[in-house]
Amino acid sequence: MAKTLALLHTQADGTLPKAAYEILTAAAALGQPFDVAVLGAGAAAAADAVQGCGASAFYAVGDPAVAQPRYATDAAAAAALIQASGAELVLAPGTSRFSRCLPGVAHRVGAQIDTHIVALGNDGGAVSAQRWFYRQRILGAFSRAARPWVLVVDAGVFAPWQGAPGAADAQAVAVAFADDDLRTAVTGVQKPAADAQTIRPEAKLLFVAGAGWTKKQKDGECHIGEAGALILDFLGKAQASLGSSKSLVDIQSEGEALSFMSHMNQVGQTGSTPRHPKGLATCCHGEEPHTVGWRFIGERRAVSLDPNCGWAQGKADVLYVADAFEVMAKVNAALA
Ligand SMILES: Cc1cc2nc3c(=O)[nH]c(=O)nc-3n(C[C@H](O)[C@H](O)[C@H](O)COP(=O)(O)OP(=O)(O)OC[C@H]3O[C@@H](n4cnc5c(N)ncnc54)[C@H](O)[C@@H]3O)c2cc1C
Repeated sequence: MAKTLALLHTQADGTLPKAAYEILTAAAALGQPFDVAVLGAGAAAAADAVQGCGASAFYAVGDPAVAQPRYATDAAAAAALIQASGAELVLAPGTSRFSRCLPGVAHRVGAQIDTHIVALGNDGGAVSAQRWFYRQRILGAFSRAARPWVLVVDAGVFAPWQGAPGAADAQAVAVAFADDDLRTAVTGVQKPAADAQTIRPEAKLLFVAGAGWTKKQKDGECHIGEAGALILDFLGKAQASLGSSKSLVDIQSEGEALSFMSHMNQVGQTGSTPRHPKGLATCCHGEEPHTVGWRFIGERRAVSLDPNCGWAQGKADVLYVADAFEVMAKVNAALA
C-alpha cells in the first residue's frame, strides 16, 4: 500500500502551528500508512508532541540551520526528509514558510506539486484532491499518476489532530547544507498592524477609491494627504472594505498615492470580484473593466464629478454628481 508523509515545520518557539495538526488529521483520513517528518527548531520534541497520531515512523531535522525560515535550508531539509521517508504522497500545510520552499523541494525530488488543496479523497488507493480554480469560481477534483506527489493543503480545511504526546524517537536526518545555503539570515519581520487591514470580505459595504482622489482638484492642487485621511476615517467608522480602481493602484506602485493601498485592493477584470451587499465608488470613472468586478455587489452608488461617467450609463443605481472630498467630509461628520 502506498505511503503518505505528513511534512511539518515548527514555529520559532519549537511548537507546531495549528495547520500542522490539521495535516495529521488529513493524513490519517486517507486511510493508508503515513510517516511524520518535522523540520525546524525543536523538531524532535515536536514529533514527541504528536507521537499518538498513528504514524508508522517519525523523522526530524532540528539542525540550527533550520531554526529560522529560510528558503535554501528549508528546501534542503524538506527534500532530505521526503527522501528519507520514501513516501509517494506528501501532505504539507500551506503556511507561508512552506509555500515559499515546497515548489523548489518538489523540483529537487522529482515530484509534482499542487497547492491550495481543500479536500482529499482515497478511492481504493486512488488518491484525489480538490482545489478552486479561476478566482474561486470553479471547484476542480483531480488526481495525478506521477509520484511523488506533494499536496499543499489550505489551513482550516481539516480539524486539528488532538491526542497524547509520547516518545516518538524521531530519526534525525542529516542534511549536508552548502555554505551558500547559510548566507541569508532572517533579521526580523515587518508587517502592517492588524488594524491596518483594509480588505474586509465580511463588510456590508465596499468603498471604492478611484484615481480622481489623486488628481488636481478645483484649486489646481492635489490633496493626496487629505484624501487618505478622509478615506481612512470613513473606513474606520463604517468598517467598510476598501477597493480601488486599477488606475489608483498603478499610481500607488509609482509611490505617488495612498500608502495603505495596494494591488490587493484592485477591483475589476484584472482585479478581484468581491461580494458585499452595497458598494460606494468615489472619484472613479466606472469603466467596464472596473465595474465588471462589481457583479456581486447588491446595491451600487457612486460619487463622481463627471455626469457622463460610466456609472451614469447604467453601472450604478444612484450617481451623485458631486465633489467626493466634500461628500466624504460630510459623511464622516455625520458618522461621528
Ligand atoms: C485589459 C484591461 C484590464 C483592466 N482591468 C481593470 C481592473 O481590473 N480594474 C480597474 O479598475 N480598471 C481596469 N482597467 C482600467 C480601466 O479601464 C480604467 O482605466 C480605470 O478603471 C480607471 O480608473 P479610475 O476611474 O479610477 O480613473 P480615471 O479614469 O482617471 O477617473 C477618475 C474619475 O475621478 C473623478 N474625480 C476627480 N476628482 C473628483 C472629485 N473631487 N470628486 C468626485 N470625482 C472626482 C473624475 O471625474 C473621473 O471620472 C483595465 C483596462 C484594461 C485595458
